[in-house]
Amino acid sequence: MTNWYFSTFVLLLFLLILAYAVFIIFRQKRLSEIQKDFVNNMTHEFKTPLATIKISSEVLKNPNIINNPERLLNYAMIINNETTHLTNQVERVLQMAKSGKDTIQLNKEVLELNPLLENMLDKTYRPLVRSRGGDIVVEIEPSDIKIYADELHIKNVISNLLDNAIKYCQQKPMITINCKELKDGISVAIKDNGIGISKENLPHIFDKFYRIPTGNLHDVKGFGLGLNYVKLICRQHGGNIKVTSELEKGSEFCIFMPKFRKS
Ligand code: ADP
Repeated sequence: MTNWYFSTFVLLLFLLILAYAVFIIFRQKRLSEIQKDFVNNMTHEFKTPLATIKISSEVLKNPNIINNPERLLNYAMIINNETTHLTNQVERVLQMAKSGKDTIQLNKEVLELNPLLENMLDKTYRPLVRSRGGDIVVEIEPSDIKIYADELHIKNVISNLLDNAIKYCQQKPMITINCKELKDGISVAIKDNGIGISKENLPHIFDKFYRIPTGNLHDVKGFGLGLNYVKLICRQHGGNIKVTSELEKGSEFCIFMPKFRKS
């Protein structure tokens, strides 16, 4: 009888070790796939603008271009846009490096939400969305909502969410930003009409390096870092972020920030 107990115990132990080994192998495999994807995407993100800059600068090297100011301006604009794009990419990778640490140094100040949003939308997002036949609407109540936040990081958070709302949309992007004052804080909800996220993928989207495989399928590039950074910054402001989504209908990302209290 003792022997029987002993062999059952050994067998169970063996099965447990085997299961653990299989689990480790699968995890390693997933990690190496994630790493490979990351390097591929990173290469793509940097190579394309660099190639465009190289071609444009070759054109500008032609002495005859001076006789065609319109063409010259066009190529100078291309170089300018691509450099901005590259700078943003580098900024993102730096954000990622920072978010690897547990905390980010915040410089919080009282900010008016409406002008902050309108400035970002007018400069970048409205022209971008309208060029694809869509639009962005802001609903803000009351109109003078103030937040106590780090301007740079909060703008990065909103940019990340708007970039995604546009990137993961295959039709004319219709985006609504709804800002409300609540009893104990403020909420900012960004709603899109994009491809949506399935129930299985939803719990993972805030994980570092996580990308839904269909993201690659539609040739939408990214690092799988944006939402991880967004969540970190929301938490560091004492707030949080929630998401609701339905496949082929769209997604809504809602940020909550606590009310500013003078201490
Ligand atoms: P990235 O966009 O660089 O891949 P993110 O961390 O910003 O990384 O997003 C993680 C994943 O979540 C994305 O790869 C995408 O599949 C999914 N996702 C994020 N935002 C949206 C959205 N608005 N609509 C549909 N899918 C989204």
